[in-house]
Formats: sequence, structure tokens, C-alpha cells
Amino acid sequence: MPFVLPSDRSRERPPHGPRARLLPGPPRRLALAGALIAGLPLLVPGPAGAAPAVALMGQGQQRAVATGYGGAVATVDLDASRTAIEVLERGGNAADAAVAAAATLGVTEPYVAALGGGGFFTYYDARTRRVHTVDGRETAPARMHERSFVDPATGQAIPFSEAVTSGLSVGVPGTVAQWEQILDRFGTRRLGTLLQPAIRVAERGFVVDQEFYDQTAVNADRFADIPPTRELFLPGGSPRPVGSVFRNPDLAHTYRTLAQRGPDWFYRGELSREIVRTVKKPPVDSAATRNVRPGLMETGDLARYRAPLRPPTRVSYRGLEVYGMAPPSSGGSTVGEALNILGNFRLSKKDRVQALHYYLEASRLAYADRGRYVGDSDHVDVPLRELLSRGFARERACLIDPDKAAVSPVPPGSPDGDYRRCEPARGDGERLTYEGPQTTHLVVADKWGNVVAYNVTIEQFGGSGLTVPGRGFLLNNELTDFSLAPPPPGAAPDPNLPGPGKRPRSSMAPTIVLRDGRPLLALGSPGGSTIITTVLQILLNRIDLGMDLPAAVAAPRATQRNTGQTLAEEAFLRQYEAELEAMGHDLALFPGPPPGQIGAATALEFLRPGLVQAVAEPVRRHGGSALVVRPTR
Ligand code: GLU
Repeated sequence: MPFVLPSDRSRERPPHGPRARLLPGPPRRLALAGALIAGLPLLVPGPAGAAPAVALMGQGQQRAVATGYGGAVATVDLDASRTAIEVLERGGNAADAAVAAAATLGVTEPYVAALGGGGFFTYYDARTRRVHTVDGRETAPARMHERSFVDPATGQAIPFSEAVTSGLSVGVPGTVAQWEQILDRFGTRRLGTLLQPAIRVAERGFVVDQEFYDQTAVNADRFADIPPTRELFLPGGSPRPVGSVFRNPDLAHTYRTLAQRGPDWFYRGELSREIVRTVKKPPVDSAATRNVRPGLMETGDLARYRAPLRPPTRVSYRGLEVYGMAPPSSGGSTVGEALNILGNFRLSKKDRVQALHYYLEASRLAYADRGRYVGDSDHVDVPLRELLSRGFARERACLIDPDKAAVSPVPPGSPDGDYRRCEPARGDGERLTYEGPQTTHLVVADKWGNVVAYNVTIEQFGGSGLTVPGRGFLLNNELTDFSLAPPPPGAAPDPNLPGPGKRPRSSMAPTIVLRDGRPLLALGSPGGSTIITTVLQILLNRIDLGMDLPAAVAAPRATQRNTGQTLAEEAFLRQYEAELEAMGHDLALFPGPPPGQIGAATALEFLRPGLVQAVAEPVRRHGGSALVVRPTR
């Protein structure tokens, strides 16, 4: 089926309900920094308790869709998007702008993106016309082993929430090394320069909105037990009210020192020792009753950290080339395998329910294979080529009944190079390990045609809950993305057990799509293990179901991850539940967090060379921010 440009096809509206209209979202969080870098309009905070007002000038507005020339960005946050645009306007490229925007997110989204975390970066280099990825995944310390999360007293994995709020869950942070690698390879500006906008936002502060308040409130109990975290986020013992101003001078100072001394300060210098001290002896209030277990990290673990370039995953889908993140993320392989499976079917916007059935079934099968075969490929054998082969996809596609949903958990297939039609799968279904839904994703394109899709994360909202004292940032809990205990005797091996120097399996799927070797789309989302289905569903909506990109992002979502129930947003249930249940799908409302919302995507599309449409969420998580350098309207 040929892929058509928006100009050649009907402007069909997506099947979304009233909760997902394509309206610009309300202003989300506004920096008091005014012009972050000279040239931007001044932002005006609103009265306490009210939604802050914003000067409705040019780039000052928060909107979910922007179309134009000269470069484009979409993030969850207006300040971060403005930072990226300003870098582009000053002649920086997409890699520079992405690093600057991520640093600003570290200030305005401190529970999601921080120096204490990691992420995955996918990049189209317009000069070489190649896609690269940079792996900034957090890494287990050398002393970690497969039973590190097992309580010797019980022989069972320690309770998940206890594992999260601990030094044990903290992986060696990858973000700073990743920024260094990105800028060395693709950037044109120094890290110190790109940190300046974030420093200004941290110093002058931003207005707390409902989303920030909620994210603080859900963490208040555990933050209260950790004095440096309490002081930073619960002044006077409770979350800052909506409309108040949050300044983070400690983080401004940390960024400034990083700008002066460089990444070595973080990985080998004074800050590395402070991180290790925080992890090994978590700063817990003496009155707290919670058991905050110490971690295993040593300074040598930080000194050894690397953020390597990795070859991207690549599959062809309906004549397009889809590039993604290879292990340790399962994003690229699982999106890729599901697309390969879908490539065996004719999907048409005329029969959306049938197309959604195939989407859910392809995802179910791809998840079974993800669970069985994907982990950190530097430590376990991941049959990546076979997982992404057309032969394997045909063998898997053959198991899909066009009229009836399979019953999960379905067993994994055999990516062994020997493929027949309808090889019956053997064995047990996977154990779906819990992954928090709280990373963030951004996209950037520049005037040269370089493109970024970038996930940044500290895992759960608030990560491990451990703030490095006096440094203004939280440490991640990424190591709870490992399976916390070995499988029972006789069960299939688990590629995602903890190990020394190993990186936990991720679902992050920063994705870039090329047509004839030129960028067409970039997209990604937060959402833990739902990231993969969100990316897949947006691709399906855009490529197969005739939606334009804003509609493809806004459309209601469902996620099938080889679990008994398919979880969906309310609008999806309203529209498709009856017909899909008639085919045997068991649908239920996605519990969150946030309740009933899956993901918070950002995406962009080249409508023609140079003309880019940037797209953020219009409604989910209070909407994101899309901006372009020179708007068309
Ligand atoms: N820990 C998650 C992952 O690596 C990221 C957190 C999230 O996306 O929400 O896949």
C-alpha cells in the first residue's frame, strides 16, 4: 500500500471522543526566566492558585501542533521547547537543541528527567544520511548479581515499592555521558553553553502547575522520609501550591559546575563521590519507619560508565524504513517485529476494527518474544536479526486468527532461522515485569534536516526518591526495570536478570522513519512498557489508517502486552469495545498513572523538504508544546 503525503489524501478526522480534541492545551508550566535567551517573549506568571497567564506572543504560547520552516521541536513542556527553538535560532543543530531542551526538562520536570537518570537518543544525520543511536542507559554496579533484589530472609524478591525507594535501585546515571557523546559526535555547541538556559530557569524558577503539584503529592510520603528530598520538594513539609514559584538554586549551581568542569566532575570527581555516598548510605530521617536499603555502587562504577553509539534497529514497513533503539531497549526490536507481522496483512481505514484487531494481536505476539529474548545484548545473546526477520514475522503472523483474539499469555516463538508457515509456539508466556510510566520524550528537527527522537528518564515519578544532598537532583530507580528475581526452576531463562555492569531492559522507543532515505517522521513517548504500543499505534494511525500526524497522536489508545486484558483509554472503549469484545478481546480501562491515559507522545513529520509539522499531546498530561522556528501561519 503506497504511503501518501497529507496533501494527497482526504483530511479524515480520527475517531476520537471529546477528551481528545485537537485543541491547543492549556499553558502547562511557565518559566519566570522571561527571555531564556535574548529574543524570546517575556512570560508572565498568573496569580497564585490560578492557571498562570502567558503573553500570547509568537513562541510564547503553548500549543500542541506547529507547522513551519527553519526547524521544529515538540516536548511536554513549553520552557523546554522554547529552549530548543532558541538554540536552533542561534544556529545550533538538532543535537544541540535536544541536549539544551533535556537539560531544561531536568529543571521543570525533575521527577522525570534529571542528571541522575538516563535515556536513549536516535538521530538522523543529514550529512551522512544515516541513523545513529546513543545508549545512555543506567547501568548496574559491578557488585550487582541476579539475586541482589532477593531478600535472603524470604527467598523472594523484595516488595517492589521497597525496591524503588532504595539505593539498590539506583543505576549509574547515563545522561551526562550521553550528552557528551551526542555533542562530540553530532553537536556544534559546547555543553557549557547549552546548559545556560536551564541554569536560568533553575535560578529564576517556574510556576508550579497542577501536574507538578500532583506529581509531588503522590510522592509526599516517601519524600518526607528523605531529608534532602523533603527540603527540595516539600518546603514546610508539604508540596508547593499551584501558582507558587519553584526555584532550584542547588541545581543551577550543579549545572554551572558541570558547565565549568565537564563530565569528568560527574563521573570521576567530587560529584561522583557524593552520588556514591547517597546510594550507599541513603539519607533517611531517623524517625522514618521505612526500610531504605543501601545500594552497591562504587566510584569505579561511575568512572567506568560509557554511553556508546549502537547500530539502530531497522525494518521496512509499507515502503518506509523504520529505525529504532536496539538492546538494551526492547523498543526497536518489539516495534519492528510487530510492524513486520502487520506487514503480512492488508490494513484499511475502511475497516478500522479489523485493523485494530491485527494491531493488538501483532503486539501480543511481539511482547511474548520481547519477554523471552530481549535483554542487554552486551550480557545475553539476543537473536536480534532473527527477531527482526521477515521469515520469523511470517511464522508469527500465521498464528493470528483474523476473527478471534488469542488468549494471553501466548508463548514466544522460535527466532531460529528455520521458518515455516504456522509453526505452533511452545512453552509458557512471559512474565511482564513492571515498568513505571514516567519518562519523557522529545523530538527536534533543524534546517539542515537533522532529526532527533530522544527519551530521558529517571524511571518512576521521583525515581528512587534520593536527592544528592545540596545538588538539586534526584537519582533514578532504573534498576527496578530488571526482573527482580530469577525464574522458578524449570522455567525459561530470563534475559533481563540483574548482573554486574548490565543495563536493565527498557521499552523506550525513540523512532525515526525515512522515506527514500530522507526523514519523514520522528516519534516516541513515555509510558514504561506501553511506550512500544503507543509508538506502534501512532505509526498504524498515520501510515495505514489515513490520519494526519496530529490526529494520529491524539487518537485514543489501547495497549496489548501479552496480558489477559487489553487496557485502553475511555474514548477507545467507547468506540471499539463492543466490536473488539465480539472478537474475543477482553478490554478494560487503563488504570494509569495518570488514570485512563496511555503515554504522552511527541512527534514530527516532514510535510515536504524543509516544512515540518511538530506535534505534542493536545490533552494527555495537560498537553505538550510544539514550536517551529518560522511558523507558516
Ligand atoms: N523505565 C522505563 C523504560 O525504560 C522508562 C520509564 C517510562 O517510560 O516511563 O522503559
